[in-house]
Amino acid sequence: MSRLYLVGTPIGNLGDLSPRAVEVLGSVDFIAAEDTRVTLKLLNHFGIKKPLVSYYAHNLRERGQEIVARILAGERCAIVTDAGMPCISDPGEDLVRLCAEAGVPVETVPGPSAAVTALAASGLPTSRFAFEGFLSVKRSSRIEHLAQIKDDPHTLIFYEAPHKLLATLNDLLEALGDRRISLARELTKLHEEVRRTTLSEAVTWYTGHPPRGEFVLVIEGAPAQPDEPSTLEEAVALVQALAAGGMSLSDAAKEAARQTGHKKGELYKRALEAPAPDGKR
Ligand code: SAM
Repeated sequence: MSRLYLVGTPIGNLGDLSPRAVEVLGSVDFIAAEDTRVTLKLLNHFGIKKPLVSYYAHNLRERGQEIVARILAGERCAIVTDAGMPCISDPGEDLVRLCAEAGVPVETVPGPSAAVTALAASGLPTSRFAFEGFLSVKRSSRIEHLAQIKDDPHTLIFYEAPHKLLATLNDLLEALGDRRISLARELTKLHEEVRRTTLSEAVTWYTGHPPRGEFVLVIEGAPAQPDEPSTLEEAVALVQALAAGGMSLSDAAKEAARQTGHKKGELYKRALEAPAPDGKR
């Protein structure tokens, strides 16, 4: 049956192309590729011959409609990008939306993604994270983006090109403060490296060692904001409020002590001494 296949391709090591991806690429009618030259090399390596159409940032509007029309006419199409999962900082999102609107089935053939691979290797908390993609080249947009996420407690993931890495590290340090960072470089390739350090140390290191290769930056989230401790006066006011609500003074002091960290005996004594808010005892 006609459909779109979203096919993940290796982020470096060709051994990571799954047998199912090979089977699907070999069985579809045509392949939509971000860069047909890159995909041709991949297909040649696996002995696959298929018609290719280019589908990339600057032609996706018209080309997307053409691809959907072909699928609706009965063809099966696979979309691939240069590396990793389509749609993740790569073309594909718009095509999936068009297919969904036209009722065209979309089937996934998942493969590696640099973001998740770098997160897994980072040694930073992985249970909750925010993928931030590439920071804009426009300075004002970068500053705004970083201001939006500076208090985000989740682990943050960025993609970055080597020639912009140092400037980005400096901006991150300035906006987020010094934090732990894991820089994953050339994942699954010969020179794979994961450098677990801090933002300030990373700036120092890459100032002296010009970065080469592809990078994913994984940065720890904002530190939890500790609750402001209650003053003794606030804790006594809480005892009085609880007592006014019907609790015995002893129970109110116990509860206020639990909530504020002040000593129950101290709160009880102060509440007895202090005039009640309504002037009654
Ligand atoms: N769709 C891809 C994915 O799922 O990973 C991402 C495509 S995005 C245009 C390319 C960026 O991914 C690179 O600039 C780099 O930040 C990251 N990247 C891709 N391959 C990588 C690798 N082998 N090692 C480290 N980062 C990589």
